[in-house]
Amino acid sequence: INTVNLSKVFRTDEIETLALNSVNLKINKGEFVAIMGPSGCGKSTLMNILGLLDNPSEGQYTFDNTEVAGLKEGQRTDLRKGNIGFVFQSFNLIDELNVFENVEMPLVYQRISSKTRKEMVNKVLERMNMSHRAKHYPQQLSGGQQQRVAIARAVVSNPGLILADEPTGNLDSKNGQEVMELLTELNREGTTIIMVTHSIQDAGYAHRIINLFDGKVVMEESLVGEHSL
Ligand code: ADP
Ligand code: ADP
Repeated sequence: INTVNLSKVFRTDEIETLALNSVNLKINKGEFVAIMGPSGCGKSTLMNILGLLDNPSEGQYTFDNTEVAGLKEGQRTDLRKGNIGFVFQSFNLIDELNVFENVEMPLVYQRISSKTRKEMVNKVLERMNMSHRAKHYPQQLSGGQQQRVAIARAVVSNPGLILADEPTGNLDSKNGQEVMELLTELNREGTTIIMVTHSIQDAGYAHRIINLFDGKVVMEESLVGEHSL
């Protein structure tokens, strides 16, 4: 991931908001990066652009050797499929679908055959220790279990990149720690992780912290080395 002078302006009525102001970022494959900063500093806007959900107003964004800043929505969607998994603070599971069906959803969009889907979903549910809840509905699960299902959904198609927006924000410390350990494990296997967090403790799992303020990168701290203690 490489951004050059990435900016995002939102215009509503007479008001113009510069949500991102010339952001330059390089994130290598296999990195685990935490993004921190006060409410309104542009974290979600940045995640939406990095995750190919939205385009910047100005600047360049190279994703896996492809210039993506000017892509149309359909092209962005195609590029996201199988390459990027999303994890949210509020889990964002579909209440009407059971655990198996929630995790299966990205594979349905990728037009993967039903037999292969079944294998892939069962494998990832096993890994997340959720096989015994495959037929349950989200509302029948604890917050920690729901987030494990959401992570299963994010990783079921083996994406190279996971974007996690405050993944522990709605969890108690025990479940939060479990989620962080899952993300760390996925990162150790080579998945790039970009995570927004307000928690210093969670940021400690990352290799690097990027601090945003008023849409600008104001500080980067490398944590590499501390883990090897
Ligand atoms: P954070 O995630 O750090 O809280 P955001 O990226 O959500 O910050 O927002 C950055 C700034 O952009 C804020 O001032 C916010 O009000 C503004 N903003 C975000 N999304 C929109 C939008 N869709 N329309 C107008 N303004 C927006
Ligand atoms: P490969 O090496 O075969 O591309 P990976 O599992 O390493 O497979 O990555 C899968 C996809 O994830 C890549 O094709 C790329 O689109 C995306 N990706 C992951 N991390 C990055 C990154 N730091 N910069 C750009 N793209 C990335």
